[in-house]
Amino acid sequence: MINVLTKESNPLNKENKNFPIFNELSNKEHEQVVICSDPATGLKAIIAIHNTTLGPALGGTRMWDYESEEAAMRDVLRLSRGMTYKSAISGLNLGGGKAVIIGDPHTEKTEALFRSFGRFVDGLGGRYITAEDVGMTEKEMEWIYSETKYVTGIPKALGGSGNPSPVTAYGVYMGVKACANKAYGSDSLEGKKIALQGAGNVASYFARHAAKEGAKLYICDIYEDKAKELVEEVGGELVAPDSIYGLDVDIFTPCALGGIINDDTLDQFKCDIIAGGANNVLDEEDKHGQMLLDKGIIYAPDYVINAGGIINIASELEGYNEERALQNAGNIYNTITDILNYSEEHGMPAHKASNTLAEKRIETIGNIKNKYSSKANVSGRLGEVYKRFID
Ligand code: NAD
Repeated sequence: MINVLTKESNPLNKENKNFPIFNELSNKEHEQVVICSDPATGLKAIIAIHNTTLGPALGGTRMWDYESEEAAMRDVLRLSRGMTYKSAISGLNLGGGKAVIIGDPHTEKTEALFRSFGRFVDGLGGRYITAEDVGMTEKEMEWIYSETKYVTGIPKALGGSGNPSPVTAYGVYMGVKACANKAYGSDSLEGKKIALQGAGNVASYFARHAAKEGAKLYICDIYEDKAKELVEEVGGELVAPDSIYGLDVDIFTPCALGGIINDDTLDQFKCDIIAGGANNVLDEEDKHGQMLLDKGIIYAPDYVINAGGIINIASELEGYNEERALQNAGNIYNTITDILNYSEEHGMPAHKASNTLAEKRIETIGNIKNKYSSKANVSGRLGEVYKRFID
C-alpha cells in the first residue's frame, strides 16, 4: 500500500516544537545561518549572519563545549544579533555576525579543524569576517587565517592589531568621563572615587588612565595578588571582592564578569554611575536596566562603552593604525553622551536608548543604500545588465 502524504502527515511540515529554527531566525531577524560539518576533522560549527545592512558581518569565533546543539545555536543567534547593535551604535560600517565551534577548547583543538573552519568562512566571500573570542587564541586564528583573508584581530607580527585591551580600556575611560560629565557637569575624574572590579587586562589599562587624572581607585580581584600588584602600581586601596558593590564611591567600573547587576547587588550600590568594560553586566537586561533608571544611577550600556575592542579590529580592515584606532575609540565619549541624553529625554533605560539609536542608524543608512547607484553589485542577469553602464 502506498502511503499518501498529506499536509498533516508529512514530517517535513511538522513544526519542531523543541526548537523551531525558522521561527527563531525570523524572531531575531537573522539573514543567514551556515552549519559547517567536516567529519574528517571533527569540525562542527555554526556561523550566524544577523544583519549586513551597514557592511559585512563582523564578530568573533567562540569555541565552547556546549551542552547541546540547541544551546550552541541559541548562543550564536544571540551573540550575532548583539554584534549588529554594537557595530551600528559605534558608527562602524559593519554588520553583525558570530561563529561558534562546538568542542572542548582544552582537548579538541587541531590545525586541521581550524583550517577546515577557515575554508567555510572563506566560502562566504566576505559576508562574514571572523575574529578571536572565548576559547580561542592567536594560534588558532593563524590557522584560520591560512585559509581565508576574512579574519581580523590577527597578531601584530602578521600585520594585525594584536591585543585589543589598551584600546578597549581607553574607550571605557572616555565613556566613564562622558558619564561624569552628565552626572557632575564636568568630565574630570580628579578626586573621584572609583570602585574597580577586576584587575585584568582592561582594568589595568583603565586604572592607569584614571589614576593619572587623579581618581582614587578601590580595586578588587578574585586573585588578590593581581589586585595588589595593580594597587602598588597606580595607588588606591585593595578591596575584598564581596565588598566592592557596597562601597561609598562615585563610580562603579565593572571589568571582570557578566551578570553582576542583579537582584542581590542592586540595592547595595551607592554610586552615581556604573560604567565599565565587562560584557553583559545586566543580569536581566530589561528588569535591571529599568531598576538602575529608577534608582537614578547613570548607566553606560556595556556593549557601547566596551566597543574599543571591535573598533580596534575594524581598523585592520583599512590598514591598522593604532593612533587612529585610539581616536575612534575616544569617540565613545560622544556616543555615550548621545545615549544618556536620549535616555533622559525619553525616560527610557540607557540600554534601550542605545538599542533605539542603533536601529535608527541601520534604518537611515539602509534607506540611503536603496538608491540606485549605477554600480553592479550582483552577479546575476541584472548585474550583467548594470555592468554595461559602468565606466
Ligand atoms: P581578564 O581575564 O584579563 O581580566 C578579568 C579579571 O577579572 C581577571 O583578573 C579575573 O581574575 C577577575 N575576576 C573574575 N571574577 C571576578 C570577581 N568575581 N571579582 C573580581 N574579579 C574577578 O579579561 P579582560 O580582557 O580584562 O576583560 C574583562 C571584561 O571586559 C570581560 O567581561 C570581557 O568580556 C570584557 N571585554 C574585554 C575586551 C578586551 O579588549 N579585552 C573587549 C570588550 C569586552
